[in-house]
Amino acid sequence: MHHFDRNDAGELFAEGVPFTTIAREVGTPCYIYSAATLRRHARVFRDPFPEGTVTAFSVKALSNLAVLSLLRQEGFGADVVSGGELMRALQAGMAPSQIVFSGVGKTTDELRAALQAGILQFNVESVAELRMLSEVAVAEGVDAPVALRINPDVDAETHPGISTGKADDKFGIPWDRALEAYGLARDLPGIDPSGLDLHIGSQITSLAPFERAANRAADLVRTLREHNFNITRLDLGGGLGVPYAAGDVPPPPSDYAKTLVAITNDLGVQLILEPGRVIAGNAGMLLTQVVLTKTQTNKSFVVVDAGMNDLMRPALYGARHHLHEIIQKDGEASPFALVGPICESTDQFTPEAELHSPEAGDLLAFGTAGAYGAVQASQYNSRPLVPEVLVDGDAFHVIRSRPTMDEILAHEKIPPHLRHDGT
Ligand SMILES: *Cc1c(COP(=O)(O)O)cnc(C)c1O
Repeated sequence: MHHFDRNDAGELFAEGVPFTTIAREVGTPCYIYSAATLRRHARVFRDPFPEGTVTAFSVKALSNLAVLSLLRQEGFGADVVSGGELMRALQAGMAPSQIVFSGVGKTTDELRAALQAGILQFNVESVAELRMLSEVAVAEGVDAPVALRINPDVDAETHPGISTGKADDKFGIPWDRALEAYGLARDLPGIDPSGLDLHIGSQITSLAPFERAANRAADLVRTLREHNFNITRLDLGGGLGVPYAAGDVPPPPSDYAKTLVAITNDLGVQLILEPGRVIAGNAGMLLTQVVLTKTQTNKSFVVVDAGMNDLMRPALYGARHHLHEIIQKDGEASPFALVGPICESTDQFTPEAELHSPEAGDLLAFGTAGAYGAVQASQYNSRPLVPEVLVDGDAFHVIRSRPTMDEILAHEKIPPHLRHDGT
């Protein structure tokens, strides 16, 4: 459910704002988010869980400060995976008691910053990290609230590039080493092993893997308690999928919540969820413009002004994003390879986009681009970082502006002996 709709004349709007207006005033390419859609997703996700549940938005999915601020207003906290994301969450006003820190390679500087901020929980992914955190916590004179991320060895039945919960994945501590790791955690100074964490992958479109993982986690909480560990928090990660294509039918968040609550209710733990994609995915589109069309021997191409540097998912995971023509045209659609301007063969969004006689200047939008879109953008080919726009009702706000080439080049320094003008 989202708030991108056409008016009677067939023109696509984000809430009350025509895409054509944003194209004119901000330029293309740019990301467009719908505030009403973000709010709706936040509420639909959060409401079925019991009070006291922490819904920690996965900042890596969409990290813009304005979006984090909107989600903070909806009662969300943050799941961060770097010191930079921690800064974003704090700057957006998220309470440290609603922030968890995940990731396989946290540095001592990052651990220290999070300890000083007083976050809710460190999701620790290895024994080596546990020892590092212990040292930093002792130096800081505090106890670190820790959940060990245990790898439940369940198949998330998703794309191998975004599966994280199988025995061979790099994430977490192997299931059969859990008790041993908790024992070490209890013995280490500065560590308070009071939580359990897992995250099995992303874009999961059936309940079964979540159910299996939650059951395993609940069993482990019981086992740990038998061994006198006081486990008070259970973090079940993120991963609920969104419909990218017609065949994707992810379970509704209410069913997801019902399943997880039923499995964990009698444990009396504080639940933590880390949704990313399900909140942000359908709340964003990437607006682009046709630069030109060209026909090779037996293939027609449409070259747009967005590239793989602006939306990497197709090149990275073979992902497909539904394509919308901003102004509907009459007549027959025919297939085109839709590509970006980047000097890489993988800079292709879809091999067969059905378009109505596309021509230079036509506006197109990639749907379901709110999550893992803008955050993965780069300046490859010296293309300025793609801007972001938040539509809220009849108003729109540029929430990240397009940098100028002068701003981009200002970070680069030519040593004096290499300067061409002797300055
Ligand atoms: C990426 C990630 C998430 C969010 O996953 P989604 O599929 O976007 O919900 C949550 N937790 C961890 C640890 C992650 O790495």
